[in-house]
Amino acid sequence: MADPQDSCLTCELLSGTRPLPGGRIHEGSGWVVAHCVGPLGVGTLVVKPVRHVLHVADLDEAESAALGPLLRRTAAAVTEVVRPEQVYVCLWSHAGGVPGHIHFVVQPVTEADMRRFGAFGPELQRAMFRAGELPEESQVEAVCARLRGVLADPNHVG
Ligand SMILES: [Zn+2]
Repeated sequence: MADPQDSCLTCELLSGTRPLPGGRIHEGSGWVVAHCVGPLGVGTLVVKPVRHVLHVADLDEAESAALGPLLRRTAAAVTEVVRPEQVYVCLWSHAGGVPGHIHFVVQPVTEADMRRFGAFGPELQRAMFRAGELPEESQVEAVCARLRGVLADPNHVG
């Protein structure tokens, strides 16, 4: 039987087997923050454990302790850079109905997003996936550079 990590998109992005536009924005305490590679808009980030963890219940003590502060700082960073109406933080990690490498999506949602897709909440995400529009790599690089600066400065989002 094949090792499930052999076909894990998240592990491939972490190891560099697959290109990661924007690169790593932040890393520490077993977590990496990077731009989302799916069609959820410019500035949508993913917070994922470096380890191939399939269930939140399997996080270790250090990963668990770091998670809350990291999600808050990441949400604060996208708030400062994107100026959204709301920041969605969600985790499904269940593509094809199979448990996958967990990754929290931190998605800044603007008034313009809601107007354009005529939806909010899970319906907005569904509409964005249906449209399937991936952000321009140059836009991803630019927003990641700004987010990296904000996340690196404790005075900004402490
Ligand atoms: Zn993995």
